[in-house]
Amino acid sequence: MRDVCIVGGGTAGLAASIFTARAGLDTLVVDGGESILARNASLENYPGFPDGVDARRYLQLTREQARKAGAEFELGRVTRAEPIDEDDLEEGFVLEIEGGEPIETRRIIAASWSDSEYLVPLDVGRIQRGSKHFVDTDDAGRTAVDGVYAAGRLADEPHQAIVAAGHGAKVGLAVIHDSDANFYHDWVVPAGYFTGRGREVPPGCEEIDDEERRARDEQARTRLLEAFAEPLDEVPTMHPSVEDD
Ligand SMILES: Cc1cc2nc3c(=O)[nH]c(=O)nc-3n(C[C@H](O)[C@H](O)[C@H](O)COP(=O)(O)OP(=O)(O)OC[C@H]3O[C@@H](n4cnc5c(N)ncnc54)[C@H](O)[C@@H]3O)c2cc1C
Repeated sequence: MRDVCIVGGGTAGLAASIFTARAGLDTLVVDGGESILARNASLENYPGFPDGVDARRYLQLTREQARKAGAEFELGRVTRAEPIDEDDLEEGFVLEIEGGEPIETRRIIAASWSDSEYLVPLDVGRIQRGSKHFVDTDDAGRTAVDGVYAAGRLADEPHQAIVAAGHGAKVGLAVIHDSDANFYHDWVVPAGYFTGRGREVPPGCEEIDDEERRARDEQARTRLLEAFAEPLDEVPTMHPSVEDD
């Protein structure tokens, strides 16, 4: 049984997975296709990239970060989600995957912009607007069903990458807080920041000394220089209704 299964490995789902995995929750991301962000031609409003960034590279690096944090990935489209025991949601949920084995999980984060059909058996509160469906949530992504959350555009957040990522992180934190994980904040701080004041390092935080800080900075710069050394071969995905020449 997984602690959390995230349906959708796009902008919101990946951000959520980084937080839940770093907090020690057994995290599986199931993704059935491509993030809508792969259609972008140049991502120029995501903070931290003064001249923009290739959206496909951003997705690649974020996936890598999630894997490094401990999240696992499975390719496949989720087709159905239902409680293991209708009378006791704490028993968790089972997800059916097209062409794959069912997955049992204590919690679900639906981050699958463009598809929420699989949530119908759970009655989470889907809202139809035009041809699109959204999932009704509270401020932290909790739906009407305990243990089921929604993140990103599916939760009716504005259609912007940084908002989807931030919301994914926020929903990941809600899952952490609702689980048994002992957690304060996910912070890495200089040695002495807490202990220098006679405090224990709170759960979820880490104190590192200057040597370790420099080593991590070196590793981070090396990886980014390598990642950005060459342009990507991949091109943006065109809208499906645009005809080829
Ligand atoms: C053409 C275009 C250009 C854009 N340009 C910008 C821009 O310049 N700046 C900006 O801020 N935003 C931009 N956006 C918006 C941005 O891409 C989205 O707001 C953001 O990606 C939403 O994140 P999300 O995680 O909610 O959805 P997504 O990133 O789309 O992730 C959803 C994931 O769920 C998966 N999925 C769906 N159904 C299932 C299922 N049943 N089972 C398993 N997996 C499933 C999908 O394969 C996908 O990977 C653009 C969008 C488009 C279409």
